[in-house]
Amino acid sequence: MALNIGVIGTGMIGQDHIRRLTQVLSGVAVVAVTDIDLDRARQAAPEGAQVFDTPKALITSDQVEAVVICSWGPAHEEQLLDCIAAGKPVFCEKPMVTSETAARKVIEAEVAFGRRLVQVGFMRRFDADYRRLKAVIDGGTLGAPLMYKSVHRNASVPEGLYTSDMPLNDTLVHDADISRWLLSDEVKGVEVRLPRRSTRGKDLRDPTMVLLHMEDGAIVDVEISVNIAYGYDIRGEVSCEQGIAALPNRPATVITDQHGIRQAIPEDWRERFIEAYDQEFREWIVAAGQGTATGPSAWDGYAATLVADAALRAVDSGAYERVTMIEKPDLYGPKSARAAA
Ligand code: NAP
Repeated sequence: MALNIGVIGTGMIGQDHIRRLTQVLSGVAVVAVTDIDLDRARQAAPEGAQVFDTPKALITSDQVEAVVICSWGPAHEEQLLDCIAAGKPVFCEKPMVTSETAARKVIEAEVAFGRRLVQVGFMRRFDADYRRLKAVIDGGTLGAPLMYKSVHRNASVPEGLYTSDMPLNDTLVHDADISRWLLSDEVKGVEVRLPRRSTRGKDLRDPTMVLLHMEDGAIVDVEISVNIAYGYDIRGEVSCEQGIAALPNRPATVITDQHGIRQAIPEDWRERFIEAYDQEFREWIVAAGQGTATGPSAWDGYAATLVADAALRAVDSGAYERVTMIEKPDLYGPKSARAAA
């Protein structure tokens, strides 16, 4: 029996997820869609899917067993709380929410419900290269991780829609989450450095350098460049006590001709992480079919939100900004991040 799902938000990633849920993956049927722009929802709706006027009508429909949220970040809080109130498993694109208060409300609602329902769209955790990198670190043969360099470069971002805060509250959340996951640790403080501004970014503050100070003393240095022009380039390198484990940009066919030796660069996240998104949904479908969620949790969404908030404060203060977390509820596993790894 296929899991009947409803998709909220049929913009760029909503349409890409509808494609994978209808054409790539099995065990799932998109039976409902909605968008603030109903024409866009109608165009994106797979054959036979019902178009709902509002997210709440979709979430509470008897036809919908589980929900995928692909609307923009500020809308996620209300939609997540409605899913939890309806007791329906929900996959929510990042950022889970856009404020600490909202993140705590989601956690409180899920804890009160008593079972995990929320999976956050941190797809890097499902990427085969990142999984191999984590296995090497966890295996311990290189010793303790001391530093991690995370490079996050986008060719461009939509002008006007991508605002000055977004490198920190929309983009950095991926690096914050993957750093916590790879190093099995929480972030205790954040610094931000603003180098000379790229003229390509117009009014955007770009690029940005962020330092994440981890609880056990490791430091993560994140480069965020959202207007790098040449393509989508995601890299990572972990320096450990006895060696280095690196994740280069995605390996591709090497072409040698009269112009030299070169490899294609992914155009955007859809191409680079296509298999990771597929795998993230494969695992979500299994869990949602059992009425629950695995993978990145509301706690992980909360942690990434706190890092984004601290980074935004650090831009204003120019100082080290502390990240202070509430006590981890039992629903999200062992209190220590290392024990949870
Ligand atoms: P997008 O193209 O702007 O699509 C968002 C869609 O949701 C738009 O159609 C928007 O309508 C609609 N929407 C906004 N508020 C809504 C509401 N309250 N109810 C229903 N629909 C609503 O943006 P996108 O690039 O697809 O991004 C969507 C989300 O995915 C964002 O949170 C983004 O950060 C995340 N994302 C994640 C990844 C990843 O790598 N995991 C990659 C890209 C995006 P209007 O345009 O009319 O506002």
